[in-house]
This record gives sequence, C-alpha cells and structure tokens, in this order.
Amino acid sequence: MKSFRFIIRIFPVILAGILLLSPARVRTPLQFPDILGYRTLKCDFHMHTVFSDGNVWPTVRAEEAWRNGLDAIAITDHIEYQPHKADVNPDHNRSFDIARPDGEKLGITMIKGSEITRKMPPGHLNAIFIRDASLLAKDTWREALAEAVKQDAFIFWNHPGWKGQQPDGVARWYPEHTELFEQGNLHGIEVVNEREYYPEAHRWSIEYNLTMLSNSDVHDPVFMDYDPDHGDHRAYTLVFATDNSVEAIREALFDRRTVVVLNNLMAGAEPWLQAIFKNSVQVKNSTLIISAGESVYLQVHNTTAVDYALVRADTIDGFEFPHEVILYGGKTVLIKIKRIAKEIPEQLQISLPFRVSNLKVTPDESLFVEFPLTIIPASE
Ligand SMILES: [Zn+2]
Ligand SMILES: [Zn+2]
Repeated sequence: MKSFRFIIRIFPVILAGILLLSPARVRTPLQFPDILGYRTLKCDFHMHTVFSDGNVWPTVRAEEAWRNGLDAIAITDHIEYQPHKADVNPDHNRSFDIARPDGEKLGITMIKGSEITRKMPPGHLNAIFIRDASLLAKDTWREALAEAVKQDAFIFWNHPGWKGQQPDGVARWYPEHTELFEQGNLHGIEVVNEREYYPEAHRWSIEYNLTMLSNSDVHDPVFMDYDPDHGDHRAYTLVFATDNSVEAIREALFDRRTVVVLNNLMAGAEPWLQAIFKNSVQVKNSTLIISAGESVYLQVHNTTAVDYALVRADTIDGFEFPHEVILYGGKTVLIKIKRIAKEIPEQLQISLPFRVSNLKVTPDESLFVEFPLTIIPASE
C-alpha cells in the first residue's frame, strides 16, 4: 500500500519525464487552399546532402520535408562539386536512392535531380525528373545540359543573383541564357533562392514565360537555418497540380502553374494569387448596419500560413476605413468602418479596395483585391 502511494505521488514526475524525452517528430502544416480545380502542393526543388557539399544524410531531407509541411522535394546534389568524396560514395544517384524509401513512407513525393554546377555564365542549373544523374557528368555545360534534355528533364536557372557569382547581387542575363532559351532548354528560374528574392529573375520569368520557383538550397540541417515553430520557414514553391504524383508535378511545372513563397512574400501570376487570396480570406459579416457618424467592425479571417499586408488603394465617399491592415495568417482581424455620410440608400453596395503589398504580380505591382459589402442604415 505504501509503495502504491509512492507511485501515485511520483506519477506526475514520470509523466513529465516521458513527455520531455519524447522526440518531437511533428509535422507543421503550411495551410493554403486548393484552387481552380488543382491541388496546392508545397515543394522544395533544390537542396543538398553529404553526397555533395551538404551536411546531412539524405534520409534526413525526407523527414525534414515532412516536418516542414512539404508535399514534394528534389534532392539536387552538385555534379561537379563533391567535397566529401574521400568519405562518401561519389555515385551521383546515391542520395536520391537512399532518401526515396523514407520520403515515400511519409507520403512525400521524391523527385530525382542534380545541380549542374558551372561558372557564370550560364551559372548553376538544376535538372529534375532525370533518370540517371551519373550521365550528367560531362566535360562541358553544353554536353551536360544536352544529356539532361535527353532525359526529359525540367531545367531551371538557380540563384541568378547569387553573390558568389554576381558580387553586386544583381542578376544578369547572358548570351548563354538566350542560347538555352532559344533551344527550348530553359524551363524555369529561381525567383527566390534561400532568403533572397531576385526582381530581375521575376521580370524574366514574365518576359520569357519561365516557370517561377522558390527553393531553399539548404545545405545544413533545416533546424539550424530556420525556426518553423515561430513562423520562419524555408523558401518553397506552391505547385498547382492534379495530384501529388511525380508526373502531375512535372506537368504542372512545364505548364508554369506555380507561385513562389518566401515567408510572407508571395509572387506569381495574377490569377493564381487572386485565387489563393479569395479562397483563403473569409469575411464573417459582409452586411453591416451603421448609423450616421458611427463605426462598426468587419471581421476578416485569413486561413493561410502567410500574413497579408493590405494597403488602401482608394477612398470611398461617405465612409472611412484604415489605410493599412495586416490580415495575420490563421487569425481573424477587425477592420473599422465609419459612416460619415448622413443620408444613404436602404441597401448600399460598396467595395473596399486594397493592394496586398506582399503579394507581387510583377516586381513593381502588388495584387489588387476588393471586399464587397452591403451597408444598411440603422433605423434611428
Ligand atoms: Zn548553386
Ligand atoms: Zn545548390
């Protein structure tokens, strides 16, 4: 009896111990709505392991992707740069082959890729959806890319403004890129790499119809560089695909169905951004009863992982509403609306116009959105 009471007494201590010792194998979801008949997949198509200059074993990349809320990844070790090759098998297919079963067990779509690593121009290019990475080891970049094309790869230009190759951080388009583009062998471009957004790359993606990508290019364990529990995520690309198969993701990339995300910055074509915004923002009370000279609150909920920074795009006669509003991700925010007008019709339709300053349609233009409202005068 005495020992039973002792166990009861120390039970909370045992429980706390178990909880503290449990490894945190937890997935933090990245919430985005499915749009326009497609599934919205969160993807990172650029990262490294010990099989090139990364500092993690390939299976770690698979579980990190799961924990970080991603749906698909490509491990893209360098072909031409393998600083660990005295310690690690230099076979270019090994990192994918090792990571794949772990990724698939967790429901992560695993895509085979490599980074063709040359000096600028043309710089570094990723070839993904390849069959045999070893065949990309060639003397010249032209031969390496010809082999990637032969393997039906999706080819994109990595970190065009990387200071390692462009010391002023400004991306430049060289004749070599024109050559690749005119041959039909440049399909996408990193508008975001790691924590950098390249406005020039954004412009070229529009001018040349290249798929926009946002990738982490992570080399160390993700937890060393990011803190997703506190809203700091690695860069990722939203891909609008019919399903999460390798083939559907490939088709979506060739069809340019992407939006890039870097924490609270999103960039993409207007219809995608508009659909994401419309499907993730809910106005809880779009009919408002207001007396002259009084204010009421509009309740607006944002279901995504991104904060939307609204800036008033115009004024409305007879009403006042804030110049700036932040719709915090996962939260409901109040927007104060004041009726100045003395006389208004029985049912007045108005629309609050805003620009979402962190949702970029082009490098210089942010997404225009409206909140349609019905105003009813309070009976006095
Ligand atoms: Zn690179
Ligand atoms: Zn890289």
